[in-house]
Amino acid sequence: MNLKNFFPVSVWYGPHRSRAPMVAKIRSIQEVEKDIITIKSLGFNSIRFWYDWATAEPKPDEWDFSTIDTLLSIVDKLQIKAIVQVYTDSAPNWVERDYPDSLFVDRSGLVIHSQASPGYCSDHPQVRKHIETFLQKLAEVVASHESFYAWDIWSEPHIVQWSWIDYIKDPWFCYCKHSQKRFVEWLKKKYRTIDALNDAWYRKHASWEEVIAPRYVSLSSFRDLLDWIQFNIEKIAEDLRWKVATIKKVDGEHVVSSHAAISSVYGIPGIGYGASDDWKLSEMVDVWGTSFYPKHTGSWMPLKPHHMGVALDASRSSCESRGKPFWIGELQTGHGVTGMRFGEPVDEKDVERWAWLAVSRNAKGLNYYAWLPMSCGYEVSGFGLAEYDGSINERAISAGRVAKTITEKMEIFASAKPLAAEVAILYNIESHKALACLRAESAELIRKDMFGMYRAMMDMGVNVDFLHIGDLHSDLSKYKLILIPFSIALDEKSAEAIKKYVANGGTILADGRIAWMKEDGSLCEKIPGLGLHELFGCEELWMKELKKETNLVLKEKRLTVSACRYLSVYRVTSGTAIAFFQDKPVIVENNYFSGRAIMVGTLIGVGYEETGNTDNLELIRQLATERGVQRKYFVRVRSGDADSLEIRFSTLPSGEILVFVFNHTNSECCFDLSIPKNVFQRAFEEATCLNRTGSVAVESTPEFTVITDIAMDGGETLVFLLQ
Ligand SMILES: [Zn+2]
Repeated sequence: MNLKNFFPVSVWYGPHRSRAPMVAKIRSIQEVEKDIITIKSLGFNSIRFWYDWATAEPKPDEWDFSTIDTLLSIVDKLQIKAIVQVYTDSAPNWVERDYPDSLFVDRSGLVIHSQASPGYCSDHPQVRKHIETFLQKLAEVVASHESFYAWDIWSEPHIVQWSWIDYIKDPWFCYCKHSQKRFVEWLKKKYRTIDALNDAWYRKHASWEEVIAPRYVSLSSFRDLLDWIQFNIEKIAEDLRWKVATIKKVDGEHVVSSHAAISSVYGIPGIGYGASDDWKLSEMVDVWGTSFYPKHTGSWMPLKPHHMGVALDASRSSCESRGKPFWIGELQTGHGVTGMRFGEPVDEKDVERWAWLAVSRNAKGLNYYAWLPMSCGYEVSGFGLAEYDGSINERAISAGRVAKTITEKMEIFASAKPLAAEVAILYNIESHKALACLRAESAELIRKDMFGMYRAMMDMGVNVDFLHIGDLHSDLSKYKLILIPFSIALDEKSAEAIKKYVANGGTILADGRIAWMKEDGSLCEKIPGLGLHELFGCEELWMKELKKETNLVLKEKRLTVSACRYLSVYRVTSGTAIAFFQDKPVIVENNYFSGRAIMVGTLIGVGYEETGNTDNLELIRQLATERGVQRKYFVRVRSGDADSLEIRFSTLPSGEILVFVFNHTNSECCFDLSIPKNVFQRAFEEATCLNRTGSVAVESTPEFTVITDIAMDGGETLVFLLQ
C-alpha cells in the first residue's frame, strides 16, 4: 500500500468532550473548529475521529452519518489530514430485539445483553450483513472527503470488547450457537471425519451435530481446548480480513489499518475475551500497529525501558515480517485511570520519549490518545493530552513539537530504517496456548523470560527481532544468535528448522523445558523432545519448582547466575555441562555440526527480572559477542548518571544515520558517545540535533566517531542526524 510518503502524527478527537467509541451530535461548528485549529497549531499534521454502528444505524436501515460528515468537512478546509476509527462493538440495541440469538454467550451459558458495548456476535448471519452495510455506507461518506487519509477498521481486536463482565468468573467467549457452528465447520476442515475428531478428542460422537465447544480443562487430554484456542485466533484474523475487504469494496484507495491492545507476545490468545496473533492480523491489513501505554494502571506498570522495547520491537517484527508498515494506533498522553486504579503521572518528557522510542523502532505513524481526558466511563479523567477544560499544557506542547519535527523532516523519518537485527527472540505461540491448557493464569513466565533476554541485547545497542514460530522456515542466516524463551510445546517441523539453523552454523540458547510436548499437547519421548536432545547434547532427568532464588556458578565464564521458579537437571550425552545444581548438570553446551546449542535448565530471563542479577544478562552477552555480535556504542560519562541511557540507530537511504538517545532516569547527565567506525563502514563529520536547536561537536579517531559533550536533562530524548 502506498502511504504516499506521509507520516501521520495525529491526536484522537471527539466533538463536545465525547470519548471513543461514543459519538456526539455536533452542536457548534465554531467550537469544534476552534479545537481542531488549536490541535493543528500545536504541530499535528492529522487528526483521528471515530464512528460507531450505534450512531450510524439508530433504527434498522435508517442511517445517520451527519457527525462524521461534518467533522471531515471542517477538516477539509483546514489542510490537515483525517484518520477514521471504526467501531462495530458499540452497536444499536434493536439488534437484540430483532435477532435475540445474536447475543454473546459465555462458556457458563450466560448471555450478555449489550449495554453501550460489547454489541452482538458477528457470527450471526444477519448481524454480519448489517455490519457490512454499515461499513460500506460509512465508506461512501468518508472516502469522498479530501482530507481523509486512512481507516482504522478495528481497535484492539478481541471477540468481546469494551466491557468487563465482572459477575462472571473468568469468562470465555463466544459460545452462541452461531459461533459454535463456525467452530464445527473449522473442525470439519481440520479432521474431515467425525471419527478422526473422536480419536483426537477422546469422544464418542455419532455425528458433527453433537460436537460442543470445550469450556474447561479435563484430566485426559486438552487437544479439544487447543483446537478451540486456535479456532478463535484464526476467527479474529478472518474477521479482520472480512472487515478490510468490506471497506475496500467501496474504498479501494485509502490505507486500511488496525492495531492491537498490546503485542500478542505479552498474553495468552484465543480464550477469555479473545485476542489473536499479531503475525496473523498484520497479514490482513495495509498497516498494523499497537496501542502503547507505558504508564497504564496495573501491577506490571509502569513499563521499564526494556519492557517498552519488547512491546515495540515485537509489534514492529509482526509488521516487518509481513512487509507491512508499523503505526502506534494509540499513544498514551496523560494519566492512566481505570476505575479506582491510577497509574504513575505522565509528564511532557514522557509523551516525547515514548514517541521517539516508537520511531526508533520504525513506527511510521503516531496517534496520541486522546485530546481531552475521558469525560465519562471507568477511565473518567484519564488519558488526555489537554487539561480537563481543554486548555493547553506542557504535554500538549511537547507532543505537538514531536509532530512538528516529524512533519518538517518527513522525508527523513519516513525513510529511516532501524539497524538490521542480528539476534532474534523466538515467539512460540504454541507455548502460550499450552500455558492456557496447563491452567496458568497468564503468560507472565514467557513474558518475563523474553524481557530478560531482550534487556541483555538492548544494553549493547543490538536490535532484536521477534521471530514467529511459523517463520522458522524463512532465511535465518541473518541471525547470529536465536534466543528461545520457555518453549514448552513445539511441532516437528519447527524442531527440524531449529536443528537446521544450528547445523548450518547458527547458535541458540533455549530456556527451561523445550519441547516438553508436541503441538497437540502429547508428551515427547524425551525432553528436549522431537530429536532436540541430540542438538543440545543432553536429556532432562527431572524438573522441579524452586521456592527461592538459587545460584548457579559458571566457573569458566566467571559468572553466577540466578535461577528462579523452575530448575531442570540433565544427563549429558554429547554436550558439556557448564553449571550444576547439587552436582547435577543444569546448563549444557553442545557443538552441533557447524553451530552451537546451549540448554539452560532454568529461566535465565525470569531470573534477571526477579533478582536483577546482571550475570544472567552477561551469559547471553558473552554468547552474542563470541558469535560476532558487536556492541554498537560506548558511553564516556563526563558528569551525572548515565546508567539508564538507551541509544538506538536508524539508517537513511543517503547513508546518513539517525541517533536516538533516551535518558530513562530523572537525573541530568553529560557524556561522549563513541560509535565504532566499522558499524556503519564510514566516517561522519557533523551531528545536528533534530528535536532541539543546535548541533554538537563530532570528533574522529582511527576507530571511532565520537559525539562529544552531549548534555541531557532527566527524562529527555535527543534525536541526532549524523552526516
Ligand atoms: Zn457468538
